[in-house]
Amino acid sequence: MSLVAQLQAALGADAVLIAQADVAGHVQDWRGRYRGPAACVVLPSSTRQVAAAVRIAGQLRVPVLAQGGNTSLCGGAVPWPDGAAPMLLNLARMRSVRSIDAANNSMEVDAGCVLASVQQAARERQRLYPVSLGAEGSCQIGGTIATNAGGTGVLRYGTTRENVLGLEVVLPDGQIWNGLYRLRKNNTGLDLKHLFIGSEGTLGVITAASLKLHPLPTAQAVAWLAVASPRAALQMLDLCQTRYGASLAAFEMMNGLQLRNVLEHVPGRRPPLPAAYDWHLLVELADTRAEPALTAALEEVLLQGLAQDLVLDASLATSGAQRAALWAVRHSVSEANKKAGIGWTTDCAVPVSAVPEFIARATRAVHRTLPGLPIAIVAHLGDGNVHFIPLLSFGQWNALAHGPATAHAVQHAIHEVAHALGGSFSAEHGIGQLLTQEMALFKPAVEIDMMRGIKGLLDPHQLFNPGRLLPATPHRPKGVSSDE
Ligand SMILES: Cc1cc2nc3c(=O)[nH]c(=O)nc-3n(C[C@H](O)[C@H](O)[C@H](O)COP(=O)(O)OP(=O)(O)OC[C@H]3O[C@@H](n4cnc5c(N)ncnc54)[C@H](O)[C@@H]3O)c2cc1C
Repeated sequence: MSLVAQLQAALGADAVLIAQADVAGHVQDWRGRYRGPAACVVLPSSTRQVAAAVRIAGQLRVPVLAQGGNTSLCGGAVPWPDGAAPMLLNLARMRSVRSIDAANNSMEVDAGCVLASVQQAARERQRLYPVSLGAEGSCQIGGTIATNAGGTGVLRYGTTRENVLGLEVVLPDGQIWNGLYRLRKNNTGLDLKHLFIGSEGTLGVITAASLKLHPLPTAQAVAWLAVASPRAALQMLDLCQTRYGASLAAFEMMNGLQLRNVLEHVPGRRPPLPAAYDWHLLVELADTRAEPALTAALEEVLLQGLAQDLVLDASLATSGAQRAALWAVRHSVSEANKKAGIGWTTDCAVPVSAVPEFIARATRAVHRTLPGLPIAIVAHLGDGNVHFIPLLSFGQWNALAHGPATAHAVQHAIHEVAHALGGSFSAEHGIGQLLTQEMALFKPAVEIDMMRGIKGLLDPHQLFNPGRLLPATPHRPKGVSSDE
């Protein structure tokens, strides 16, 4: 029997999509930059169904591509354009919150749950699931775990990795591993969940997760600040951390171009400050103490920043609606850039103290190739993650000779700057199909070899998301030159 016939027999005909119109939304990424054919799209309703589908694909040696909300920014969740078409497994039907254990500060969810619905379920029990990002209304918990997503809460709560207690995974041979532990301490050898966190669907299908919850902050204070420079922003970060400690929940930065893009291209977004400044910060304090005290504390540091000429202007939210409006501006940057033109998005991490140097050197590197090209910058400054985005209008892109090769060269030059400063070319979005060759250049050979070894052990037929994460060609260590 064919793949489709076997899947229909095992899972039911309505769980297997083959019509062009039904699969269309699954085989192209969010920005329309990557697309490829799928053998079929499977919508399992349970872990057992995932295991059955994986076994069938394995027997027929059909590649398997797990897909969550398909919000990957590096082509991670859509089929590759050449090679064998995969069975695409989308977990959208697996969206139960299995249980919430408030006393243990944990919850167990199906991997297909949308991130925002998990946050909401936790909130209803006065708990916080702290992973938060612009795509939270569409991305799935399984996808955030498979990419070790970051977002705006990392400064205080860490990345997804730090908020996962246990996993359930269907392995490439169809076995189900139930590792849904809820423990904070469990020193019984290797902690295997970490193999799957950040593995981008190359080692198995994550079907459920046990997540770490935190007390729900009952008070927030949010301010939008214009600052003199990235260095002034760092000084404000230092002031805030010294003054507020763990109450500092977010510290985000963007440049003037990025803010203007949001205001121009996303309907309903209002300017947080009356004038146009070059550098902007969004600062949030969150705690369980009284809100007026928190707002007064934030005001105090803003005044200190103004007195030291670090802060040029500031707007303090005075209601929940105003806080939400400020955050809406921050969460609209990807949508705005998608509408503004072709952004050569990069996702670098550097030591926090090196962010101003990174921005200065990366700007020079871009302008050596394309003098004066506008660059949108949006950074999770509190954790040193900078999205440095050379941005071409659609007209500039169409007129550019050798566009893809130029984009690759410019992005590589930015990655080299990060590397020279002790940073990473991939902070939170993952590798997908965009950055596999950068893995070959920047990742030590011994690390690539260990990853290949683990991949070979779990997926000996190389069926799970082939061509993603690891470079296609054998690793050849290569010198990485400085940007200067
Ligand atoms: C507007 C916008 C804002 C964003 N902001 C951020 C941000 O601030 N921080 C950040 O980190 N990312 C951000 N992203 C990127 C993206 O949202 C995250 O990478 C997210 O974690 C992907 O989740 P997903 O469910 O959409 O996964 P998908 O895109 O569907 O898949 C991503 C990868 O995970 C694998 N995968 C998916 N589900 C499973 C599963 N159940 N088991 C095994 N493997 C699986 C896929 O094979 C693929 O390799 C943003 C994206 C957009 C569009």
